[in-house]
Amino acid sequence: MKENCLFCKIIRGEIDSKIIFENQSVLAFNDINPQAPIHILIIPKVHISTLNDIQSSQIELVGEMVKVSTLIAKDLKIAKNGYRTIFNCNQDAGQTVFHIHLHLLGGRTLNWPPG
Ligand code: AMP
Ligand code: ZN
Repeated sequence: MKENCLFCKIIRGEIDSKIIFENQSVLAFNDINPQAPIHILIIPKVHISTLNDIQSSQIELVGEMVKVSTLIAKDLKIAKNGYRTIFNCNQDAGQTVFHIHLHLLGGRTLNWPPG
């Protein structure tokens, strides 16, 4: 946990969010500025700043984030039509919150390449 991290504050309940899913290691909540009808962020409950900081011991945790995204997609009935999952890493990818998060986007046709 990092004191002044926005997503650590969401995990601690200090900032409100619309929680979609939670277990011991992962939290999923609605993005505050949705870019698609469904835009959910899946985060680990431990603080990891960027994708570059993932340790070998955390591979299972990242796998769980991916698995949770697929379960939510099925639950929200977008799995069949399709959806996109994205990790932005650092400046060139436009990362703005430095606590890793998997974006789950769906509910419309998504453009490719994303730009
Ligand atoms: P990224 O640009 O990949 O770092 O994505 C950060 C995401 O966090 C953006 O899509 C923001 O809209 C989202 N975000 C920022 N603040 C909040 C918040 N308080 N609750 C939910 N989502 C947020
Ligand atoms: Zn954090």
